[in-house]
Amino acid sequence: MESLPAHARVVIIGGGIVGCSVAYHLAKRGCSDVLLLERRRLTCGTTWHAAGLVGQLRATHNLTRLAQYTTQLYAGLERETGQATGFRQVGSIAVAASEPRLEELKRGASMARSFGLEVELLSPGEAGERWPLLSTAGLVGAVYLPKDGQTNPVDTTQALARGARHGGVRIIENVKVTAIRSAHGRVTGVATEQGEVGADAIVNCAGMWAREVGAWAEVNVPLHAAEHFYIVTEPITGLASPLPILRDADAGAYFKEDTGKLLVGWFEPHAKPWGEAGIPENFAFDQLPADLAHIEPMFAQAMRRVPVLASAGVQVFFNGPESFTPDDRYLLGETPELAGMYVAAGFNSIGIQSAGGAGKVLADWIIDGHPPFDLWDVDIRRCAAFQRNKRYLRERTEETLGLLYAMHWPFRQPQSARGVRKSALHDRLAAAGACFGEVAGYERANWFAPPGSEPRYEYSYGRQNWFAASAAEHQAVRERVGLFDQSSFGKFVLKGGDAAAVLARICANDVEVPLGRVVYTQWLNERGGIEADLTVTREAADAYFIVTSCATQTRDFSWLTRSIPGGSHAVALDVSSAYAVLGLMGPRSRELLATLTDADLSTAAFPFATSRIIDVGYARVRVSRITYVGELGYELYIPTEFAQSVYDAIVSAGGAFGLRLAGYHAMNSLRMEKAYRHWGHDVSDEDTPLEAGLGFAIAWEKPGGFLGREALLRQREGGLARRLVAVALEHPDRLLYHNEPLWRNGRLVGRISSGMFGHTVGTALGLGYVSDGGAALSDEWIAAGRYEVELATERIPARVSLQPFYDPARERVKC
Ligand SMILES: Cc1cc2nc3c(=O)[nH]c(=O)nc-3n(C[C@H](O)[C@H](O)[C@H](O)COP(=O)(O)OP(=O)(O)OC[C@H]3O[C@@H](n4cnc5c(N)ncnc54)[C@H](O)[C@@H]3O)c2cc1C
Repeated sequence: MESLPAHARVVIIGGGIVGCSVAYHLAKRGCSDVLLLERRRLTCGTTWHAAGLVGQLRATHNLTRLAQYTTQLYAGLERETGQATGFRQVGSIAVAASEPRLEELKRGASMARSFGLEVELLSPGEAGERWPLLSTAGLVGAVYLPKDGQTNPVDTTQALARGARHGGVRIIENVKVTAIRSAHGRVTGVATEQGEVGADAIVNCAGMWAREVGAWAEVNVPLHAAEHFYIVTEPITGLASPLPILRDADAGAYFKEDTGKLLVGWFEPHAKPWGEAGIPENFAFDQLPADLAHIEPMFAQAMRRVPVLASAGVQVFFNGPESFTPDDRYLLGETPELAGMYVAAGFNSIGIQSAGGAGKVLADWIIDGHPPFDLWDVDIRRCAAFQRNKRYLRERTEETLGLLYAMHWPFRQPQSARGVRKSALHDRLAAAGACFGEVAGYERANWFAPPGSEPRYEYSYGRQNWFAASAAEHQAVRERVGLFDQSSFGKFVLKGGDAAAVLARICANDVEVPLGRVVYTQWLNERGGIEADLTVTREAADAYFIVTSCATQTRDFSWLTRSIPGGSHAVALDVSSAYAVLGLMGPRSRELLATLTDADLSTAAFPFATSRIIDVGYARVRVSRITYVGELGYELYIPTEFAQSVYDAIVSAGGAFGLRLAGYHAMNSLRMEKAYRHWGHDVSDEDTPLEAGLGFAIAWEKPGGFLGREALLRQREGGLARRLVAVALEHPDRLLYHNEPLWRNGRLVGRISSGMFGHTVGTALGLGYVSDGGAALSDEWIAAGRYEVELATERIPARVSLQPFYDPARERVKC
């Protein structure tokens, strides 16, 4: 047996395709002091039995870019390493059996083309010509990606391993890691069955074991295994070879030709979670019992699409486990709980096609200390701590496997494991007709069904059933007053003699402000990229109250705690559950609130961006005059046990002012009209405040500077090569979501980062960055263009502005 080193710069746990790809890419970057430990043999977990499809089209721009890189990597790997991979660029065809599915495919095609992916639209007949055994009955169209491929997962993993070894990586099989060692919040090494190995960084690539490996160090890795089924037929006479991969998402099926046989696999709507009690110790190159009754309905649908299956004999019924995450996206990056602990796991049945890209960016992340570009889609810091709860994961996993091929409707909400995280006002909102959506398990009212109608989504790519109700909520906020439950906000307290100094360093804006001031600010990395976008309220000389979005609670708290220098007198607490939040927004909000308090609410006494603790109803409430909707308004931070009485008081007083309950869809429409940015869509760690048009929130000259200032100074001097603009479609009936390509004078200049219908402006609105091949962009260049947005391969004229389309002078906010 090969002996273990005493120390390695990076220890990788797990020798599946993902672990080997991370090792390969670390070596490529010149980091050779790497040890990969595999408990049995390489590929013995999930990798060995994968079907080997390598597709490139993913739900978002960045994930598609990563999948595209994987394909390019695999295409050259055999040549580079001398190890055969079995990779064949056979192309793929995705067929659509309904108009919405075709729209989904076309939207994907538009996005993919915007960065050079080859995509062709096919008629059903053309699809049939390329795939002769296909029944085109009921099809309305298809897309063809000529550069998609298929590979042999075992051989490809071995090729990555060989490439890694060439670069100096040590790969040792039959060594099981048994514990993570750490000290002072940082990894120090691993324990194995053969002894201890010190490490500066550890990468958990343990596939379906990764949740348990994380749990050894109290690190949250929320994934759960599920059974995944395919069959391989006997040889089929007349089966063309090579044949593109065929995907029929409406039938939940994929088809791959291999050595004259067909492999047919499924993503059924109700999957079978597996291994809840833990993955068996001896599981290696194993499979699970076949379950013909489970896949029989799927098989029947597949036969309708490829009728030859009815007469082809089945050689193999395969059932193997794969891990799934609560939102069907993989888990990547440094964990918030433990510095130096990285994860690449939970690949939701696309680990072969994702491994190349994921391995590359994770290697960059480990070596450079930050991701190479915005990876929020897959960043493990999006996960909430509760999500590793096994019952939650098991129930959600039943649904997530099928979601891979389900319609990716705009606003689609999961149906399983719901109602697990609720605000104190949840039942009152439900009684008032709320239709809830979910963010990190939190139930949030998205819209309110008018009396007599059901609070249930009817999905489509057009105006959905809630459009009119949400428009009325929007209008109430613009004209009278609306009430939002924003309790899902992340809330932190930073306290101590050094709290002001800690925040001054990480906030781009000035937070050394008088007590009771609310400061809108970004937290920047040293590259000037926006790590967080939030408000900071000075509660006392030595205490700040920090408010951020629900989705970034874990990430932002981690950034905050890691920014406190050792030995400083500052303690951060996550107090999110301690306060409910109500947003009382609209021109009549002050009048309404005045009936519930004797505090002076006049602008002179209570101006914009200030915060005070005052009586509201029977409670003492922190009221902050701030808005995300562009009207006069107040956010009420209510100790949770008082939330219901304050809510009741507001609602009973509200009738006289035309109060209306409003949901997150209305809020999104309102904020979009004001071009308020949303972190994760419009701003991220690769966008600077200057590019994002948030220069007004930079306190350039504050004493001591701030993290990221030097990068911003350089950018200010060099000019901006990217700028965020507001976009309005010149077509009242079409809708924007995100990722739609943006054209200027017939040239691609950007894409939509978030979109929503603006009910006051009366058209679909979006935000998005534009660029011109690296040239500095002037206001005049932006104003002079003729713009179009590409929607499902069709270009629609649009207006573009550096100013919001609603109230650019900010008159309504400050009144
Ligand atoms: C039936 C089926 C078909 C599929 N088809 C496709 C496809 O066509 N295309 C595609 O992209 N994806 C496909 N997938 C998904 C793909 O196979 C997985 O996403 C991918 O293999 C995951 O790789 P991994 O390296 O994360 O996990 P694994 O391959 O499971 O590797 C994890 C490794 O970690 C090791 N390990 C665990 N604990 C320890 C420890 N304590 N110490 C040391 N080592 C440890 C395990 O032994 C294992 O080898 C399919 C999956 C299934 C089940």
